[in-house]
Amino acid sequence: FTKSHKAIPVADQGWKEGEPVPYAALVSTFESIEATTKRLEILSLLTQFFLVVAKRDTATDAKNSSLLKVVYLCINRLCPDYMGIELGIGESLIVKAIAESTGRAAPKIKDDFRKEGDLGKVAMMSRNTQPTMFKPKPLTVPSVFQNLTEIAKATGNSSQAKKVGIIKKLLSACQGMEAKFIVRSLEGKLRIGLADKTLVVALAHAIVLKEIGDKRMSPEKLAAMLEQGAEKVKAIYSELPNYDLIVPALLKGGIEGLAENCKLTPGVPLKPMLAKPTKAIGEVLDRFEGKEFTCEYKYDGERAQVHLLEDGTVAVFSRNSEDMSGKYPDLVEQIPRCVKEGVKSFVIDAEAVAYDLETKKLLPFQDLSRRKRKDVRTEDITVRVHLFAFDLLYLNGESLITKDLRSRRALLYENFKPVEGEFDFAKSSDGTTTEEIGAFLEESVKDGCEGLMVKMLTTENSTYEPSRRSMNWLKLKKDYLAGIGDSLDLVVIGAYHGKGKRTSVYGAFLLACYDPDSENYQTICKIGTGFSEEILQQFYEQLQPLEIAVVRGDVEVGGAKPDVWFEPKVVWEVLTADLSLSPVYTAAHGLADARGISLRFPRFIKVRDDKNAEEATTAEQVSEFYQRQVTAAGKKKGGGEMD
Ligand code: ATP
Repeated sequence: FTKSHKAIPVADQGWKEGEPVPYAALVSTFESIEATTKRLEILSLLTQFFLVVAKRDTATDAKNSSLLKVVYLCINRLCPDYMGIELGIGESLIVKAIAESTGRAAPKIKDDFRKEGDLGKVAMMSRNTQPTMFKPKPLTVPSVFQNLTEIAKATGNSSQAKKVGIIKKLLSACQGMEAKFIVRSLEGKLRIGLADKTLVVALAHAIVLKEIGDKRMSPEKLAAMLEQGAEKVKAIYSELPNYDLIVPALLKGGIEGLAENCKLTPGVPLKPMLAKPTKAIGEVLDRFEGKEFTCEYKYDGERAQVHLLEDGTVAVFSRNSEDMSGKYPDLVEQIPRCVKEGVKSFVIDAEAVAYDLETKKLLPFQDLSRRKRKDVRTEDITVRVHLFAFDLLYLNGESLITKDLRSRRALLYENFKPVEGEFDFAKSSDGTTTEEIGAFLEESVKDGCEGLMVKMLTTENSTYEPSRRSMNWLKLKKDYLAGIGDSLDLVVIGAYHGKGKRTSVYGAFLLACYDPDSENYQTICKIGTGFSEEILQQFYEQLQPLEIAVVRGDVEVGGAKPDVWFEPKVVWEVLTADLSLSPVYTAAHGLADARGISLRFPRFIKVRDDKNAEEATTAEQVSEFYQRQVTAAGKKKGGGEMD
């Protein structure tokens, strides 16, 4: 056991068999996880807590499973992403609830918050100063989960008061460290450095260990079983990212039974496969040398995963698994026309592009992004949406993701048909020389696309890899070939007051990338040139409501000193000439170099409102960009060939 996992005693906080999991037991695990940065230690802590819970969890349905609730509280969610019930309560409401539940004045709480930078800690400190008149009933995992769900679901006129009421009730019952995590959950982030990938592995390990029970075996065999278990659960989770289905199935049938009960299902969006950037056609050829590959137009629209369920329902999901059926009622209505007879269910991966019916030309993405996100009425639609399908992931009851791209594409062509102005297959070319690719790239740009996607076509390397940024899909963006090969999507976390004419708006902004391993935002550059007065005004209106009193605890600030801080919500696409090591900014520090990395001459391209802050460019990607630049510069110096 110790070879795979460090044995760490689980603090169960006096949890008795047959009783619900005490919230204090979960909180004590959070505390231990927060206290370490070692990934393996975090994995051990979580695995062992999950194991204790799994052993005692007799429920095999989603509603009653304690393990499921524990899993959700660990990732700070209440249901699968696409169902859209989210926490993320504003700072002022939480301050109000803390004030009312502790009897302290709100301005004092804000003051403490300014000093601490962590409202969770402030809530805990505020509680500790209160004399306890009676011992409140301890919080349990199911009761906390239930209350958080009610808060997230509260809507309408009296919802604010209702939310404050429930938060007060929860805070009054908190003991020890609990208030800290209740508040962080409410804010939408636990900040304990627990990555989603670690959670999936911990869950798998706990189930494997539960199945093994007291059986003895060699450490090597155990390690192998743990690894296989983790691979299986990861694979299933990427096809069916829904713990409501996976956790009960694991409790019921263990690792072996999982594949039988859980597989890609129309109606449950899977995380899309992503591409790696390239700087030159030569790089593409190096990567795919001797292999069969295909080039497709890279349409400039919005990713759309379209599902047809057996009951005839059409659902459209965005890049981050949001249900977009309300934004695209026209698309939902169009879909049946492009499906050939005999098709009962499917999942296609596609790009939804704005389209001008009269000129029969593609329009820029911005024309579509002006649409509201929900409840769009068909009669209000002015810009049509044209779907370009590039992959088929599921057809008539069968998952296709392990087939090669050539076969998936053949099935796509066989079962769907183009409809003018509504549906078509992504235009492709199988030309493989530099000249052919170059010509196709030019053509794509002329037709209003961003460039090309180059994909492995046959062999085992051309399966569909959900949620992975894969080397088997390369993007070649025409505009960006001169820079670092791609743009970056960065979070706006702060701003600097304008000068001269710009005093009533922000004049410059502080941007950050995201590091999913530490769950922190890392500063990367200040951007302040090239904005028109009009756009600065727009940004001010959008960002001003996101101003917060102090920088959040999950921002690695470095030497940046903006005048105001924001809740990390807004994502901008930014282009840069190149990257340099920086004594000021913290992006990707410790990866390519101990120092952080910064953008030189950053230029704003557009707002990415299809991405949330946690989907911003990652620290690892920033480091990859930097390393590629260093390698290219080295080649140049050494007289190597530059494309
Ligand atoms: P990231 O930068 O994280 O890769 P992104 O959405 O910014 O995400 P892009 O650089 O725009 O990624 O490149 C990939 C995107 O291109 C896909 O997510 C998809 O929306 C779009 N796309 C357009 N045409 C195609 C195509 N033929 N095949 C695959 N993706 C395509």
